[in-house]
Amino acid sequence: MTNFQTLGLSAQIVATVSALGYETPTPIQEKAIPLLLEGRDLIGLAQTGTGKTAAFGLPIIEMLIADARRPANRTTRVLILAPTRELVNQISDSLRSFLKKTPLRINQVVGGASINKQQLILERGTDILVATPGRLLDLINRNAISLAHVTHLVLDEADQMLDLGFIHDLRRIARMVPAKRQTLLFSATMPKSIADLAGSFLKDPVKVEVTPPGKAADKVEQYVHFLAGKNDKTELLKKTLNDNPQAQAMVFMRTKHTAEKLSKHLAEKEYAVASIHGNKSQGQRERALKAFRDGEIRILVATDVAARGIDIPGVSHVFNYDLPEVPDAYVHRIGRTARAGRDGIAIAFCTPDEAHLLRDIERLMGIEITTAGGERPEFSGRGNGGGNRQPARSGNRGRGGNGNGGQPRNGNGQRRQGGEASASEPGKAHPHARPGQKRPPRQKFADRTGGQPRRDGGAKRSSSR
Ligand code: AMP
Repeated sequence: MTNFQTLGLSAQIVATVSALGYETPTPIQEKAIPLLLEGRDLIGLAQTGTGKTAAFGLPIIEMLIADARRPANRTTRVLILAPTRELVNQISDSLRSFLKKTPLRINQVVGGASINKQQLILERGTDILVATPGRLLDLINRNAISLAHVTHLVLDEADQMLDLGFIHDLRRIARMVPAKRQTLLFSATMPKSIADLAGSFLKDPVKVEVTPPGKAADKVEQYVHFLAGKNDKTELLKKTLNDNPQAQAMVFMRTKHTAEKLSKHLAEKEYAVASIHGNKSQGQRERALKAFRDGEIRILVATDVAARGIDIPGVSHVFNYDLPEVPDAYVHRIGRTARAGRDGIAIAFCTPDEAHLLRDIERLMGIEITTAGGERPEFSGRGNGGGNRQPARSGNRGRGGNGNGGQPRNGNGQRRQGGEASASEPGKAHPHARPGQKRPPRQKFADRTGGQPRRDGGAKRSSSR
């Protein structure tokens, strides 16, 4: 059986990961670690939650230890770029736990925090720097850091970095990093723009894929409720939350204004809720995430920009209160649940004006999401002239028929047919289970997904996140 030792890691690193409770490498770790130790460039097609941070972090740390050098002042040996502050913090926390018994120094720099303090911490020289691209460039402009000594460059959640418009920043940064380096690019999806980016940044990369593009985390059960209007959404959300008092739920909204409004409304109704979106300060976002992670609040209302990639193992429900404009975002959203070996449910609310968004999501994923309530409209063929073509029914995720309350699971492992990626094993327990973690209790189908909503009017949307 594969273990961390057989992947070529040293006894010291193996001891560190086993102290963290990692016994078996996840598929991406199994595939990527030996290749990275050989010095190969790599494209990793994997979502957060697959163990990708350790997949790149462990071999890089191993290589840094083997090449024992103190970094010069105001330089870094490894540069890891990620799109959001939350991801930078998450990656740094994860890597810090691997560095405990080493002399290596890790620093993180993100926007929204004091640049002077960051300038100061970079003074002494850094082994691993985790950064958002914009803040890194600001610090480079101040001569707080030079990238001239970088030997390893990691672009994490590359597709989101492109979505957020970081392409020019990335190109500028890549020009400052020595050409002789090892480059890793991780992305949950592989649109052409990412393939192009990889083509210009990486040399003869190997590709490691643990989830096919556009496929959601295979353990997530997916449902959709067809609703007449926005007010129905709030009522159905509250009903489902009431029916699931133990649920730890993320609710995704399209704009920061609607996110704030819903969060206030739920707080008024005495739900333990917080929100994260672009109008919140970093301190507020971090406090909200911590309270959610610690279980002090059970509902986190979020926009995509603020929430992507966040790893909170206890999330049992993801609500797509608004369907995302970009179908890829749906895949990321539902990937916030069914983490660390647990089960998860994703519930989408779809009003008539969102039917085309649902169609795009189902096309991307190659499935028809199970209807849990309301009537599935004929897709109108809006957008790219797809007519009313319906996607093939997958039968592997949302099950239970069209709103008739069929059984969500039969307990024999058949939930995970099809859609499974090359590197994982269908029907096998999720490799990320941490010791002592329990599954949330199972409840009945109707309870867990919400019953039939009442119908009333619609609402307008705004556009900023
Ligand atoms: P990531 O995809 O890097 O965000 O990792 C997702 C979660 O899985 C994190 O909470 C990790 O601590 C955990 N994890 C990563 N690799 C393993 C492993 N081999 N065994 C158990 N847990 C792991």
